[in-house]
Amino acid sequence: MSLSAALRSSNLLVSWKSTGRFQQTIAACVELSGKGLHSGKLSTVRICPELAGKGRFFDSHSISIPASIDFVQHSPLSTSLFKDGVRIRTVEHLLSTLEAIGVDNCRIQIHNHSDSHDYDVEVPILDGSARQWAEAIEKVGLTAAADEHGQNCEKLAPYLNEPVYVWKNDAFVAAFPSPKVQITYGIDFPQAPTIGRQWVFVTPLEDSCYVKQISSSRTFCLFEEAEYMRERGLIKGGSLDNAIVCSATNGWLNPPLHFYDEPCRHKVLDLIGDLSLFARFGNQGLPVAHIVAYKGSCRSFLNIYGNIRNSNRENVI
Ligand SMILES: [Zn+2]
Repeated sequence: MSLSAALRSSNLLVSWKSTGRFQQTIAACVELSGKGLHSGKLSTVRICPELAGKGRFFDSHSISIPASIDFVQHSPLSTSLFKDGVRIRTVEHLLSTLEAIGVDNCRIQIHNHSDSHDYDVEVPILDGSARQWAEAIEKVGLTAAADEHGQNCEKLAPYLNEPVYVWKNDAFVAAFPSPKVQITYGIDFPQAPTIGRQWVFVTPLEDSCYVKQISSSRTFCLFEEAEYMRERGLIKGGSLDNAIVCSATNGWLNPPLHFYDEPCRHKVLDLIGDLSLFARFGNQGLPVAHIVAYKGSCRSFLNIYGNIRNSNRENVI
């Protein structure tokens, strides 16, 4: 029996339990504009309060697209959502911030500046991190969300009951039962010794951990790979202002870094963004577990976690 089949056959891998807190929403609208990393298009994102139980969803061209794994369109360089002809690209940094800070319910309006009939929109890359999203949200603050009856809703979280893992060669992603969300992440870039091997351990939902240690970590890339992507039009909005770029032979091209291990911290930021796609009805997406990843593609973990969630679908709400 394959791992995914085993997971599908089990309905005990996660239990939904109360976090002891109410679901929240943003206290007032916030708006940021900027260029998309991959498309180079200028867009504006407006995050607005929403009722408890509605979760997070994008709103573009009158189409409502839940920020859910059910609408993910696989793309190698970023995470995109697709529904009814509308595609929202590069959602991971914004969703990472919303999940970690606790904006459980919100409407995310987004449109391109140049062409109002363009159904292919991209979340602005800003400085390549989640810092500006976090600052804008913290400025207006959060509030307990009420449902259509004016009632607050308790926020549930998926607690992992058994270890799960996937691996390929020396890369792996595993998750172990834990009383709180913990992430250990390792990367290894022997071809770029300035990055080399890095490990990070964080408890992203505790205190201000995410804002202080993760949100300002920027997208990184290898100079040689960036040139290849630029020539093929894959990073039309990429510049030294929205990514830290490392040359295999000459080290960082645009120092200083925000942290000596900023690349590894950014991988944690992306992982939280992708796992946020399992949030439903204003509940937590991040599994309450110790997630350990080494050179891991988040995608493989999304697949097993997706199976876990689906196996529990009837038990969720
Ligand atoms: Zn990223």
